[in-house]
Amino acid sequence: MRRHPADITPLTFLDYPKKAACILWYTGCNLRCPYCYNPELVLGCSDGGVDEMAFLRERRGFLDAVVLSGGEATLIRDLAGLCADIKDLGYFIKIDTNGSNPDILADLIDRKLIDYVAMDNKMPSTRTWKLPGGAKLFDRFSLSLQALEASGLPYEIRTTVHPGLLEESDLLQMIRECEQLGYRGTYYLQYFFNAGPTLGNLEPPTRRYDRPLLDKYAPLRIGYRNFPEDRGKN
Ligand code: SF4
Repeated sequence: MRRHPADITPLTFLDYPKKAACILWYTGCNLRCPYCYNPELVLGCSDGGVDEMAFLRERRGFLDAVVLSGGEATLIRDLAGLCADIKDLGYFIKIDTNGSNPDILADLIDRKLIDYVAMDNKMPSTRTWKLPGGAKLFDRFSLSLQALEASGLPYEIRTTVHPGLLEESDLLQMIRECEQLGYRGTYYLQYFFNAGPTLGNLEPPTRRYDRPLLDKYAPLRIGYRNFPEDRGKN
């Protein structure tokens, strides 16, 4: 049986390129990233109770797109059915995923139920820090990336970064591995957002990244999001 989201962000111009979108937030995730700032969504497993279809019917003509997020979007129950219902209302659909469910992603692509994907890359293939739920994560991420690359669908790859978890060498390896898998877009680095409790109770970063070094050696263009040195700039 389908579950409802726990919350809705009614309007954003930041989460779907060039579209006015809302975000539906669903509970449940198969990973436990220490920097995750949505512990209540990740650890929750109940029906959120928000009537998303009523909201979307009401906003037709005002919104272009729906972002399915969480939590992990590919774990949403009856995801294909949900996407089909949203598409019937005329919306574009973006999903936010950690790349761990390549079969589900490929099915959505094959059935033309999604229009844009933002996929997280969590760690380099050789990195040893343990991520609960992360067994063979890179293998699954690679299959997801290959499915996206073969589809022609627009997508982006991004990594949430905290200097205490990922060094510059890790980031360069991750970018290189995506480039070797065929990715040619901008690789987004999103700075750890320290606005409240996280799953791993992370301390604030004690140093900044060497961005000139990253830009010099990365084989893809890097897009920096929410970096402290950029805050306050237009
Ligand atoms: S950051 Fe994303 S993948 Fe990681 S625990 Fe949070 S919702 Fe799950």
